[in-house]
Amino acid sequence: MSLLVVGSVAFDALETPFGKVERTLGGAATYFSVAASYFTHVNLVGVVGDDFTKSDAAVFKGRRIDISGLERAPGKTFFWAGRYGADPNERVTLATELNVFASFQPKLPEAFRASRHVFLANIDPTLQHSVLRQISGKPRMVALDTMNYWIEKTPAELRTILAHTQILMINDMEARMLSNEHNLLRAARHIFKLGPKALVVKRGEHGAMMVHDGGIFSVPAFPLEEVHDPTGAGDSFAGGFMGYLSSAPRLDDGVMRRAMVYGSVMGSFAVEKFGLERIRRVTRREIDTRAKHFYKLTQFKL
Ligand code: AMP
Repeated sequence: MSLLVVGSVAFDALETPFGKVERTLGGAATYFSVAASYFTHVNLVGVVGDDFTKSDAAVFKGRRIDISGLERAPGKTFFWAGRYGADPNERVTLATELNVFASFQPKLPEAFRASRHVFLANIDPTLQHSVLRQISGKPRMVALDTMNYWIEKTPAELRTILAHTQILMINDMEARMLSNEHNLLRAARHIFKLGPKALVVKRGEHGAMMVHDGGIFSVPAFPLEEVHDPTGAGDSFAGGFMGYLSSAPRLDDGVMRRAMVYGSVMGSFAVEKFGLERIRRVTRREIDTRAKHFYKLTQFKL
């Protein structure tokens, strides 16, 4: 069953203790769709500038990703620059240049309107809403990501779209900011009043936690000796999570838990190399092997 994503397709400049790249393909929708394509068919909606070449688009080729919703506009592609220190959870944004993203008005190709699963990556909540309005019928699952900027600057618009969202996938700092609660269980309770039925809190190297009516489930981050580039971990997590969930015939607690594991698996591959380098070359067999490692990692007897 198909999965629609709307979000950034970007060029990133990255600096980590393991190296530096001046310009590499990135963006939330890029990481998300590559990660999700190992599980399901993805419909991508976004915008790029005229500096986006055929070789950049090659990352989507040969995968189950339909880029007929990737608009090309005159100007430069969205650009983001970030730096990480020894703690991969702490990043400094050095530059955000919206470029063609500033006037982006998402338009869904006709064939995308029947998408049954939707992931609204971190963009202006008004645009997230406009995408949802173009979907015909009621989707099976709508998940959303956002960030501190939108929580602070457009709280009313964010509330409107949250009322149509089943799963909110954000980091711990954003969950606290949105709910005004430090404790994440209390934060979840607050967030459920706004619409979502499930909260997935991404915690970087500390893994992720899900709170929903089936209870609470925590998954660790895969223990890696070297995290080369944390960029895209959250979006790859979301891609693995939503990709797995979209491919499941039923949605129950067991499926949601496995989706958390596949999310963490995809996040762990994303950080092993710079940019999309690792996640674009991973195989389904490696994904399943790592999922089994998660099982071993967390199993114990009572
Ligand atoms: P994450 O999964 O949170 O590490 O997401 C990283 C990606 O988000 C990078 O490849 C950036 O291009 C993209 N990004 C950074 N800032 C923004 C923003 N304000 N809006 C949309 N995308 C962004």
